Amino acid sequence: MLDFIDVIIPIPLKKLFTYTVTPAEAEFLKPGMRVAVPFGKSKIYTGIVFSIHKDEPAAYEAKDIQQILDDKPVVNSRQLKFWQWIASYYMCTLGDVMRAALPSAFILESETVVSKNTVNIIDESILKDDEFLIYEALQHQSSLKIHDISNILGKKNVLPVIKGLIEKDAISVEEEVYEKYKPKLVRYVKLDISYTSEKALHELLEELSRAHKQREVVLTLFSISAKTKKPVKVTDLVAESGASSSIVKALIDKGILEEYHIQTDRVEYSGEETESSKSLNEHQELALEEIKTSFETQNVTLLHGVTSSGKTEVYVKLIEEVINHGKQVLYLLPEIALTTQLISRLQNYFGEKVSVFHSKYSVQERVEVWNHVLNNSAKAQIVLGARSSIFLPFNNLGLIVVDEEHEQSFKQFDPAPRYQARDAAIVLSHLHQGKALLGSATPSLESFYNAKQNKYGFVELSVRYNNVLMPDIELVDIKEKQKKKRMKGHFSDRLIEEMTETLGEGHQIILFQNRRGFSPIVECKTCGHAPECPNCDVSLTFHQYRNQLRCHYCGYHSAMIQDCMACGGQDIDSKGFGTEQIEEEVKILFPDYKVARMDLDTTRGKYGYEKIITALEQQEIDILVGTQMLTKGLDFRNVKLVGIMNADSMLNFPDFRAHERSFQLMLQVSGRAGRTEQRGKVLIQTYNPHHNILQQVSTNNYSDMFTEQMNDRYNFKYPPIYKQIKITLKHKDYNRVETASIWFAKSLRQVFGEHVLGPEAPPVARIRNQFHKNILVKIPKQQSLAKTKEAIIKINNSFFSVKDFRSVRVILNVDNY
Ligand code: ADP
Ligand code: ZN
Repeated sequence: MLDFIDVIIPIPLKKLFTYTVTPAEAEFLKPGMRVAVPFGKSKIYTGIVFSIHKDEPAAYEAKDIQQILDDKPVVNSRQLKFWQWIASYYMCTLGDVMRAALPSAFILESETVVSKNTVNIIDESILKDDEFLIYEALQHQSSLKIHDISNILGKKNVLPVIKGLIEKDAISVEEEVYEKYKPKLVRYVKLDISYTSEKALHELLEELSRAHKQREVVLTLFSISAKTKKPVKVTDLVAESGASSSIVKALIDKGILEEYHIQTDRVEYSGEETESSKSLNEHQELALEEIKTSFETQNVTLLHGVTSSGKTEVYVKLIEEVINHGKQVLYLLPEIALTTQLISRLQNYFGEKVSVFHSKYSVQERVEVWNHVLNNSAKAQIVLGARSSIFLPFNNLGLIVVDEEHEQSFKQFDPAPRYQARDAAIVLSHLHQGKALLGSATPSLESFYNAKQNKYGFVELSVRYNNVLMPDIELVDIKEKQKKKRMKGHFSDRLIEEMTETLGEGHQIILFQNRRGFSPIVECKTCGHAPECPNCDVSLTFHQYRNQLRCHYCGYHSAMIQDCMACGGQDIDSKGFGTEQIEEEVKILFPDYKVARMDLDTTRGKYGYEKIITALEQQEIDILVGTQMLTKGLDFRNVKLVGIMNADSMLNFPDFRAHERSFQLMLQVSGRAGRTEQRGKVLIQTYNPHHNILQQVSTNNYSDMFTEQMNDRYNFKYPPIYKQIKITLKHKDYNRVETASIWFAKSLRQVFGEHVLGPEAPPVARIRNQFHKNILVKIPKQQSLAKTKEAIIKINNSFFSVKDFRSVRVILNVDNY
């Protein structure tokens, strides 16, 4: 009897592929190990062994594997189970899941491009002969493809060589080529440790009494660090002391000052003593007890705690307990909220036990974390990560914290697997018989609903830490203001008043505007023509800074037009407003203050976001204008005023969750105001101050919002009452996608009747030259989800057996909201 293995290959194949192995290989292999396998005519893929068996495939003749790549599994059996759940729940293939789950350095394939690792110089003597040949070739050529390497080595099985080189840090794979940005290292100085005692210091100042300028520098260093209580930059020291940098250098050379850099490119714990965690106040203590009690009977608990109530400190206590039992903890956060703020807060408590995992980290760094988790090493007992960290090879996960659980970014929209990391995390914690804690100041309706239904435990924390009052929220009727001519640009007199006062007191301001760019629409005043993207059905956005028109869907851009492309008129109007225009207006209104902007355009690059946050923290910015990026769990002590420029655009967004999201967004931004002693102030400008959501925001009334929104969900059959699956069809030919979507919807209706909506063109019906059509299947609670999916898959299969439809792309999105 022959031996076979089923292999997961990182491409969207419906079935696993079977290969033959020798008896010895069958003996050696375990599920979760990597193998190099041939596929198609000439491709080679890295696959994951799924199972080892003796059943010959009936439909094709199994090929031999090329090579075994591991001597022990890199993916454990729980993960394989988890992958299967993801594939089946989110209707995708195991190959899709594999691609999302494994760091790309693990998935070498024929298209892989490798280049020399320029960051590290390695000791060449550790390289084996084959490895050295490749390493040397890379000195002369910036990158090599797998088949180049095959040619150099004169053999086919080169993946083990590449793997060896990667492990020795000698080369890197493709993705890292894009990681070019290196932050400028800021130079800091401090007094050498031998002078920190009072006595030594006196002696030093004595000694410098004749070196006037040097003495001045040392004294200035003191006064700066006393005032700011922060590390002192060399540039600040030079500026403030009036000494030249050569004097600072002289002091460094003498060993009086010590020069250092705060390196932020890799988040690495410096190894200093850890702090013990804070003792909780009575409210936090009670919440902690309630969480523990609820965990006795529930696997999942929702913590609804107002902004700044100290949820993080409660998590910390739970985490302490879990790691003391020797178990692992996953702390999930939306990508953008993974800032140094939180990272250093946790590292202060847990030191080296914290590893961080998110997409802005290099492949190498991600492989490191992967291996730490896989080996259950002490370094990764706590993983702080964005959504994709649910795929790490945990083997003993005691607790998953999902912070800001309402955040939309836990859902992956593209590509498959289109998973919701919060929901998947709950399944993952089940697989480990661990617990999951969801936390938010503004829970998603579905989580709150689950808590109400007793599916989850529920704990509340309703006072802010230190009894800081919730901010005072005022609605400003800008329709009224406009009538009375009390607007300057987009600023009401009330907002200007409050801003003036806040700035006068030395506090900072955050202004929230939902759109980026200068103005959403540029329009000709003569004929009304608005320039549109040639690839998408959407108007272009004016970006003043670059003097460009840009498409926010495909990235298309062109120079700003001087005259109308339709009628040649020269009177071009920019309607509406975005962050860039607000920034411009603020600069004119408050010319003496520092204004900065935080949106997708200003935060590109690995550190763009962090730089702005640091600048705000260090009070280098007085007024920050930004999009929803501002909302993500940031803690700024000195921000006292938050202005929401226009609430209406959020409320009118065409989506069934628009109201829920507006509520969450506004309360979250409001939560940035007044987090310490001073009560914060929030001004919300709107044309419609009587809107229920705005009333609920201004009184922080979650429960009214919940009741009212849930009513709508019942009435209109939306989640969480109904489940839904969205089917999107795409094609470059409009007629093709039209016919195809009608066919698809009709077939669905034969099974699901009135619960099928569409096909409908989405608001932006063409993106990157592809026409889109959406069909929505609503699934009542009593209808089996598994059967529903089966029926959809069947229809999908017959769809692709129609010749004309074969080139249409069909995207299945389960829980597409
Ligand atoms: P949340 O996550 O609920 O918004 P945080 O955990 O960020 O709130 O807490 C808000 C602020 O209060 C933080 O600056 C935090 O350091 C402080 N804080 C919270 N709990 C305590 C505590 N028990 N002792 C001291 N400071 C605390
Ligand atoms: Zn476009």
